[in-house]
Amino acid sequence: MSVQLEHELEQLRAAHQAALRLSSLLEMDPLLYELVMMTTEVIPCQRAVILLMDKYSAALEYGSHYPPLTDRSKQTALEMIFINTFNAGRDAAIQLINRRRPGGLNTEQLAGTRLEMLTRLIGAQQVHLFPLAIQNDLLGVLIIQPHDDDGLSDNLVGIINSILEIAVRYLYNARHHTQTVQELSTSVYEMNILQQIDAELNDTIELSYVFRIIMDWALRFTNADLASLGLFDDVHETLTITAQYGYDDKIIQPGIPVGKERGSIALRVARSGQAEIIPDVALDRDYYELANGIRAHLSVPILREEQVIAVLSLESRKLNGFTDNHLNFVHSLARRAGVAVDNARLFTETRREREKLALILRNIADIVVVLDNEQRIILLNYSAAIAMRLPTEIDYTGRRLTDVVDSAKVKLFFQNLPLHDHDAKEELELPNGRTYHISMTRQRSIGWLIVMQDITQFKEAENVKNELMATVSHDLKQPLSVMRGYLDLLQMTNDFDERSRRYMESLDYAFYTMRQLIDDLLDMARIEAGLELDLEAVNIKMILMACIELLQQQAKNKAQTIKLDIPDTMLPIYADPPRLRQIFTNLIGNAIKYTPPQGEIRIYAHIQPDTVTICVQDNGIGITPEDQAHVFDRFYRVRSSETERIEGTGLGLAIVKSLVEAHTGVIDVVSQKGKGSTFRVKLPLTLKAKQAQPA
Ligand code: ADP
Repeated sequence: MSVQLEHELEQLRAAHQAALRLSSLLEMDPLLYELVMMTTEVIPCQRAVILLMDKYSAALEYGSHYPPLTDRSKQTALEMIFINTFNAGRDAAIQLINRRRPGGLNTEQLAGTRLEMLTRLIGAQQVHLFPLAIQNDLLGVLIIQPHDDDGLSDNLVGIINSILEIAVRYLYNARHHTQTVQELSTSVYEMNILQQIDAELNDTIELSYVFRIIMDWALRFTNADLASLGLFDDVHETLTITAQYGYDDKIIQPGIPVGKERGSIALRVARSGQAEIIPDVALDRDYYELANGIRAHLSVPILREEQVIAVLSLESRKLNGFTDNHLNFVHSLARRAGVAVDNARLFTETRREREKLALILRNIADIVVVLDNEQRIILLNYSAAIAMRLPTEIDYTGRRLTDVVDSAKVKLFFQNLPLHDHDAKEELELPNGRTYHISMTRQRSIGWLIVMQDITQFKEAENVKNELMATVSHDLKQPLSVMRGYLDLLQMTNDFDERSRRYMESLDYAFYTMRQLIDDLLDMARIEAGLELDLEAVNIKMILMACIELLQQQAKNKAQTIKLDIPDTMLPIYADPPRLRQIFTNLIGNAIKYTPPQGEIRIYAHIQPDTVTICVQDNGIGITPEDQAHVFDRFYRVRSSETERIEGTGLGLAIVKSLVEAHTGVIDVVSQKGKGSTFRVKLPLTLKAKQAQPA
């Protein structure tokens, strides 16, 4: 057999053996080990070493070697080897590798190359390099250390080449496999971290803390050496550092804006809103050195509503130190920071609003009390505490107002609150001796909103007016009686003709109306001055029957019917009988007056656990919503073609309302123009009223 043929056979055998030995190995490390071991078995040599190419850093890193080095420290140093293949210049070794050409180098040729250190570690006088490449993709390099005296023969080179031809495919697959596994575990790791970060961020609203967390995690995940987070001011185009790690405090000072000249890459990112990875800062014109030995930079903008509000920057002392993976991760951090900034801003705004509201509530003179549906205090402002003579430094939230105040009047008012199912207006004297006008708004989702305004001055003026009115009415009564007497005398002593008699009748009617007005005015004044009620258990049905009896003739004159629809079994109520009669005589009288002939009046009751509502319903002329708002006002009379011939003073309903309220009741009206009206008087039942009555 020719030598040539023999060599070819040897190469084939080696390739076959390589395929057998390597095909079952999927993981990188065992594959590399098998390859170096096999190489030393097939070829007479001292040692085989494999360095692998790191795609991101373009550097050769330790892969495997055989046989092991006896010196432990050299072994460790070998495993840590890291050879940059960037900017190779005249480096013969790197040039060979970068050109993917196998070749031998002796000590002289190795001197000064980046491989010199490695050859010293393994004690090699000469080495033979075999770049491991597949379709121009450089996977690494196999370094053979031949026996000192002889290099590698062409035959041996041929054998190695045929082994490597097979091996690179397996290497390629193993690298791919490792990468996939790594990516998978990285994304699981990433997801775990992000979950942890979310949990941490959920616990805080403090912005500086949020930034700190984000920056710390960015550092940890990317293995960066330094980090900073700057807030961007887009008007002045400055970044103000709020958090930093690793920089000299004198160079980066938190709180001091960094302008265009020093803002560098981070400021560029802030302006463009685009994240950037700079693999080699030496090649970036905008790079501004803030720390020694920085090689790579990564900056990611933090956005809120599409506006850059901050930039997170990371720096590494490793050339090409950041990967796309790092960028994606820091991006997700930046998104979270954006949300956290939003939350913090919302929180601050809400707090500010609340403080503003609290300040307003504290400083307004009006009393504001908010009670829940169980009448517990939700809010009681400063003025309320002062007016009710309560210590102002105590928080009354959650307590019942009736337990907190001393005044019997105030207690009674709040005890009767459930009677007010609708919005209502009242007057009340508070422990500070001043009189308040109260507006109550029923809000089922909250409870009661109560606003009280001090109307003491207004009341005083009104009292003066009332007194004046009472005096004048009283003083008018006397001359009116004298005039009335003389009129009677005149009628008795003279024989008037028909015309004069008509004049006399008109005078008579005028005297009657005037007397009515004066009586109403005096009654009003008495009620306003504070009515003393003589309370007793009253059968309301009896009272109503008496009222109907009194007005029966009037109704008959207009051919009207009055129906009383009250059960005999109704419980007595606690009231002042003459005053109660006055209330219903007024209401039934009005129903007769404002209902045309043949009309119908119905009186009935709604009985609730604590209250009774007596309704006086007619099918008369009705009242428009605008007039309904005023019919209980003093001297208010509806002006229309239907009412113009009906006599009245406009005081009746005002008196009725005062009397109902004196009984701690409420009155209202539901009416429809042209259809009729129902006046509803809601009164507390006996027991309740008895307890509620102040001692
Ligand atoms: P007056 O002396 O005018 O009756 P009131 O105070 O009793 O005064 O009533 C005020 C106004 O309310 C009346 O002028 C009338 O227009 C209206 N009003 C009262 N009761 C009724 C009713 N049952 N139906 C229609 N309108 C009424």
